[in-house]
Amino acid sequence: LANRAFHPEDSIIDVSGVKIGGEHLGLIAGPCSVESYEQVLEIAQKAKTSGANLLRGGAFKPRTSPYAFQGLGLEGLDILCAVREEVGLPIVTELMSSKYLDVFNEKVDLIQIGARNMQNFDLLKELGQVDRPILLKRGLNATYEEWIMSAEYIMASGNENVILCERGIRTFETFTRNTLDLQCIPVLRSKTHLPIIIDPSHAGGKWWLVEPMAKAAVAAGADGLMIEVHNNPEAALCDGAQSLKPEKYDVLLQQVRQIAEVVGKKF
Ligand code: PEP
Ligand code: MN
Repeated sequence: LANRAFHPEDSIIDVSGVKIGGEHLGLIAGPCSVESYEQVLEIAQKAKTSGANLLRGGAFKPRTSPYAFQGLGLEGLDILCAVREEVGLPIVTELMSSKYLDVFNEKVDLIQIGARNMQNFDLLKELGQVDRPILLKRGLNATYEEWIMSAEYIMASGNENVILCERGIRTFETFTRNTLDLQCIPVLRSKTHLPIIIDPSHAGGKWWLVEPMAKAAVAAGADGLMIEVHNNPEAALCDGAQSLKPEKYDVLLQQVRQIAEVVGKKF
């Protein structure tokens, strides 16, 4: 179902009215974690003014340490919904457990499956039952084939609205958090019709790597960007080091707009 051979034209996924794929760039921005209503509201308003068309924010966080901030959970989800109401951006947030499938199906515009759950096959099968599109992040060490097969699991279960998201893979390099694989864009383009979004934030792990990699991704034909934006990165509860301040995000999107024009995309 994901195979380009049986579906030659690019898929365009509709996320509550925002199109991603073909000529449409999906620009997802927001904090790593939802921390408070005021925090998300300020970031969302500024990011929208810059041109973002989707709001991200983690309510349930997959943290390496059980002692690290785990997210606000359902309270965080309600904050996202309240900000969506106020600002008018559809929301993207990560689902970790099928126990929240119904509430996510009701409230979340684009359901994110994180890198660590890319091969949680039971969870993937359950996503066939939801009406919402799915943002499937690449596993930490997943090959293209494995990643596409995970999309296939969701599609074969009944939900064909899948967007792929590259977020860097594990390599021997330790300077960067992960290694961003931009080759995935032309490779996946040849193998699948599904849209491909690039997340330079989790790839590099450093805010100053975000701008050059985001621009390279759009130049290489990506269908969108997922970028962590925080109004006070130094005090962020999660991933502050890789988060852009709204002012920096604004400058980046001005440059992205010019590159998008050259490659025939718009937002
Ligand atoms: C995230 O986007 O918040 C996240 C946890 O990313 P990943 O699953 O790619 O590590
Ligand atoms: Mn993060």
